[in-house]
Amino acid sequence: MAVVTGAARGIGAAIARRLAEDGYDVAALDLDEGACEETAAAVTGCGRRSVAVGADVGDEVAVTRAVERIAAELGPPVALVNNAGIQRDRILSRMTVTEWESVMAVHLRGAFLMCRETQRHMREAMWGRIVNISSTAALGNVGQVNYSAAKAGLQGLTRTLAMELGRHNITVNAVAPGFTITDMTRGTAARVGIDFDEMVASQVSQIAVGRAGEPQDIAQAVSFFLDPRSGFVSGQVLYVAGGPRG
Ligand code: NAP
Repeated sequence: MAVVTGAARGIGAAIARRLAEDGYDVAALDLDEGACEETAAAVTGCGRRSVAVGADVGDEVAVTRAVERIAAELGPPVALVNNAGIQRDRILSRMTVTEWESVMAVHLRGAFLMCRETQRHMREAMWGRIVNISSTAALGNVGQVNYSAAKAGLQGLTRTLAMELGRHNITVNAVAPGFTITDMTRGTAARVGIDFDEMVASQVSQIAVGRAGEPQDIAQAVSFFLDPRSGFVSGQVLYVAGGPRG
């Protein structure tokens, strides 16, 4: 079975649905358990088992309890997608320590805790799959020094865990999306006071394939890494951005 964090909406919800179509039972984890019900229902609609779990991925106790509950209800989690994310954009001179730390807590501490708690089950099973959701922002993006550092950090975490866990038959990879239409990008437009359609048009003008990403585009890449047949691919970062990156 697979755990997807940040699964209530956007990219995480699409990943959860896609993994169910691929044959995984899926635990949909997000801050608010109730917000995950729709995703859990979509998973069961695909004929797979699901559980909606409320937990803050940056909270050690909450993560430990959540993984214990998932293992008890759905069996050992042998696949993990660290997708939960937030943005707290600001140029460096105005960024507060809280804005810096809250982004680190979700992306980096969250991925670290989720990996640490689930890998115990993967090692026991002698099989596992982990995918971390990075971003093209890892390559640098004005106003996102916190987010960019966190997303680049996830790439380092990915490569190191691929080395540490490989001998247990566990692969660890990262998917780095480009501009994808979700509540997160809608929120960015609202924050900076730009009409969303204008923002999309401006982004699309810089994307080789001439369109914005959809959550399903990212789910497609995650599906590849979680496929049992992808066991010889580990420690990789796949940019899913409609053109070359990285
Ligand atoms: P989204 O629509 O904002 O969804 C993110 C989800 O993560 C939300 O349901 C959010 O819950 C949840 N979350 C936030 N903090 C959490 C925490 N501490 N514990 C558990 N869940 C938490 O964002 P998205 O666009 O689908 O993004 C998904 C991932 O892709 C993120 O890691 C993001 O950085 C990455 N990404 C997105 C894009 C893009 O263009 N959309 C591009 C590159 C990378 P609440 O709603 O309750 O806050």
